[in-house]
Amino acid sequence: MTTFHLSGFPRVGAKRELKFAQERYWRKELAEQDLLDIAKALREKNWKHQAAANADYVAVADFTFYDHILDLQVATGAIPTRFGFDSATLTLEQFFQLARGNAQQHAIEMTKWFDTNYHYLVPEFHKNTEFKANPAHYVQQLQEAQALGLKAKPTIVGPITFLWLGKEKGKEAFNRLELLEKLVPVYAEILTALVQAGAEWIQIDEPALTVDLPAEWVAVFKPTYEKLAKVQANLLLATYFGSVAEHADLLKSLPVDGLHIDLVRAPQQLTAFEDYQKILSVGIIDGRNIWRANLNRILDVVEPLKAKLGEKLWIAPSCSLLHTPFDLAVETQLDKDLYSWLAFSLQKIQELNVVKQALNHGRDSVQADLTASQAAADARAASNVIHRPEVAARLASLPANADQRQSPFAERIKLQQEWLKLPLLPTTNIGSFPQTTEIRHARASFKKGAISAAEYEAAMKKEIAYVVEQQEKLDLDVLVHGEAERNDMVEYFGELLDGFAFTKFGWVQSYGSRCVKPPVIFGDVVRPNPMTVAWSTYAQSLTEKPMKGMLTGPVTILQWSFVRNDIERATVCKQIALALNDEVLDLEKAGIKIIQIDEPAIREGLPLKRADWQNYLAWATEAFRLSSFGAEDSTQIHTHMCYSEFNDILPAIAGMDADVITIETSRSDMELLTAFGDFKYPNEIGPGVYDIHSPRVPAASEIEHLLRKALDVIPAERLWVNPDCGLKTRAWPETHAALEVMVNVTKKLRAELN
Ligand code: GLN
Ligand code: ZN
Repeated sequence: MTTFHLSGFPRVGAKRELKFAQERYWRKELAEQDLLDIAKALREKNWKHQAAANADYVAVADFTFYDHILDLQVATGAIPTRFGFDSATLTLEQFFQLARGNAQQHAIEMTKWFDTNYHYLVPEFHKNTEFKANPAHYVQQLQEAQALGLKAKPTIVGPITFLWLGKEKGKEAFNRLELLEKLVPVYAEILTALVQAGAEWIQIDEPALTVDLPAEWVAVFKPTYEKLAKVQANLLLATYFGSVAEHADLLKSLPVDGLHIDLVRAPQQLTAFEDYQKILSVGIIDGRNIWRANLNRILDVVEPLKAKLGEKLWIAPSCSLLHTPFDLAVETQLDKDLYSWLAFSLQKIQELNVVKQALNHGRDSVQADLTASQAAADARAASNVIHRPEVAARLASLPANADQRQSPFAERIKLQQEWLKLPLLPTTNIGSFPQTTEIRHARASFKKGAISAAEYEAAMKKEIAYVVEQQEKLDLDVLVHGEAERNDMVEYFGELLDGFAFTKFGWVQSYGSRCVKPPVIFGDVVRPNPMTVAWSTYAQSLTEKPMKGMLTGPVTILQWSFVRNDIERATVCKQIALALNDEVLDLEKAGIKIIQIDEPAIREGLPLKRADWQNYLAWATEAFRLSSFGAEDSTQIHTHMCYSEFNDILPAIAGMDADVITIETSRSDMELLTAFGDFKYPNEIGPGVYDIHSPRVPAASEIEHLLRKALDVIPAERLWVNPDCGLKTRAWPETHAALEVMVNVTKKLRAELN
């Protein structure tokens, strides 16, 4: 019999129940016991779903009130000492303080979990970090599942990945890998506790093996797992998000009882593991995307494996289902074809159930399911809603230099300056202005049908007029319309483009209680109508100053969506670029001659392995440039990036050839800018001069300090002045005050320079 198991399930519930409960608890509207009860009920539901789908082992230890890496910090006693808490007696209240900060201590830093949009809390290691085992939270989940009569497999992130994901803190320099020796015995204790509580199998995740792990880190696998193998548990070592074929010999030599590999992201790695002598778990259903699988095609791969491996073959989703929404069945508003091409977590476990039955009893035993799966795959492949020949034809017929502006920057900028006549150190904004309650209310009323399109338009125009008036009063140089009409910078465009669909409850956890609902890019992308021209031209009609058009870039739209898996991501990205190109040219025709194309997510798209960076950056920057194909030299193209480290991709950023880049820099005290200076960034640049994440109004001296630092590395002729990012999360009082300081400081320095 083939074993079907899982690494993890969405934690927040079908309707984000956990999120709402947590937030009520934080607002002191819900008692702790009630929160605990809600969480327990959610776990039970999840397990029952898994059991109903014939999972042989349900996933436990994957549930967390915030983040599984924070749980691991508690379980290993490695919570940051700066909070002064004891992990053994940590209360839920304290747990949330670690995650969210308190009056004395800032929250534990967060960063992206590999190449997903999930964020984990970064462990803080000191040279003298001591560990102690505190497995209660894991044991409790295991016992709960067992109490329901279920076989459960705890899953925890392994010691090497845990250290890899952390950061070295404290004055004394050290290498956190040195902590491994102290950490491994603590892991052994945790595993022992789980075995004593009745765990037959324990899954240890080491996804760090799919990145460019330095040799000294790879070298510790053998001794580490030799020590952990002394615990009388069956260990399943799991990797996901990429290929580990290069480590196949090492992995096969480890004294663990099974391996899990991701055959969705890296199907080609199977050949390196086919001769494995112990349990081989293959991840065959995509845990990262929402497409229904072609089960026949999966069976074509796993049936021969089963013939070879017999009972030693296990099947699973590629990774935890944390990254896919809960249940497709509630999405009744979706087009019925599209609906039939999708699978969320509940559907994915049924797909695994079908594969399991087919392996155990033959394809005939599940013929109806296989037929349905095949029919959906065939219909999708043949659909003329997805495949629009004109889109492919347009891409194929682009001239070779379609991604180049007509003239080099040095010539363009002269033409731009001629009409722009901007002062030295021009001031501008990144796009959005405060999204007030009135704005959100108007949008909600419009969506509900409570106000008409004309009323909605009037409400937005009123906002735009206000934003323009305020910027004039503040004496800013290049104005923006404020983006009142957008609730989200990707959703706004997705809703206006063909090829995109939106779910009602397709939420996935981003961090803590925050979830995102990515659009679904299911088909060839076409822009049926202008998307921003009316708003931008209205804004321009209100002022003599130049109005900046505002678009979200192709890479960012791609990166923050669920992307179709039947063509290359690069192709999807270029299709979006051409749709945006239509908008750029329409804006230009309508007299909007400064156009910003935001790409905050460009760095996030970097592949996990450096060897793949070049290829990604080549198509990503090409797509960006394609967006302004055919724009006049005198049209000034801006881009904007934020909240990421950009130092290591500066040549690619320069290769985007935007006339002006605005970029978040204030929090790092302009450090990023030094890199731009050293690299001799060729075009114009607007480093952020204040952080927009807090209502705090920056002092003039702070902005002056940052601007002087900027002037040290960037010639004044190429320097712009702007906040770090858009102001939509801010309120008006601090927005006024901060921009006033920014303009005043700029004027003072301008006078000096002149
Ligand atoms: N133009 C967008 C805004 O100002 C940019 C947001 C972003 O960079 N994340 O809101
Ligand atoms: Zn930004």
